[in-house]
Amino acid sequence: MLRRILTSFLTAVLLAASALTVTVATAGTASADGCYTWNRTLKQGASGADVTQLQIRVAGYPGTGNVLAIDGSYGPATAAAVKRFQSAYGLSSDGVAGPNTFSKIYALQNNDCSPANFAFSELNRCNSNWSGGRVSAAQAKENAKRTMWKLQALRHALGDQSIRITSGFRSATCNANVGGSPNSRHMYGHAADLGVSPHSLCTLAKAARNHGFNTILGPGYPDHNDHVHLDHKSGRTWSAPSCGI
Ligand SMILES: [Zn+2]
Repeated sequence: MLRRILTSFLTAVLLAASALTVTVATAGTASADGCYTWNRTLKQGASGADVTQLQIRVAGYPGTGNVLAIDGSYGPATAAAVKRFQSAYGLSSDGVAGPNTFSKIYALQNNDCSPANFAFSELNRCNSNWSGGRVSAAQAKENAKRTMWKLQALRHALGDQSIRITSGFRSATCNANVGGSPNSRHMYGHAADLGVSPHSLCTLAKAARNHGFNTILGPGYPDHNDHVHLDHKSGRTWSAPSCGI
């Protein structure tokens, strides 16, 4: 009997201990979500997959006319982007990504790694599996994710009002059906067309210059009077003559 009581007692202690362990582990990662968790502070000189993940989320803060390289290497441009991200959200801006910066990113990040105010479905009204474009389905979806993080930065800069995406990823078939150009970047997943309201097209086109888009086509450019086209292919092409761009 004594043995049985002792065994029950020990079992209870062990259960309590394991419950405690679970609680502690949960508390340690409470701010993280289903997408990605950073496990170290990142600063200039760091490199790795965690730097790449950070770069994707701050790529909308490269400075006017710049595009941040997503290369897994934390150099001065990444530090400057982190600084801009920090000041945009009222954090102390030291260009070092530590717990406060990561908490803000967790707060902005959905479990599927899209940013808080955009969804993969908005970037793909063509099909459900991202197939049929000029890159693999996985790459097209990844490219769309990178575009959404830049759009999140644009949205925040414009007072956190909604931004309306009228076209994102297109398979070759979807692209042909809407009369897209034969080399349209929409087939790569990283292009987004924005529609008017609540912001004017010129407001969107002008602000986009600060958020990492190499291509900005808007009012005054042929066939772009009813939307602003953004993508981040290499080499700058900005043209929206009616907006002074
Ligand atoms: Zn377009």
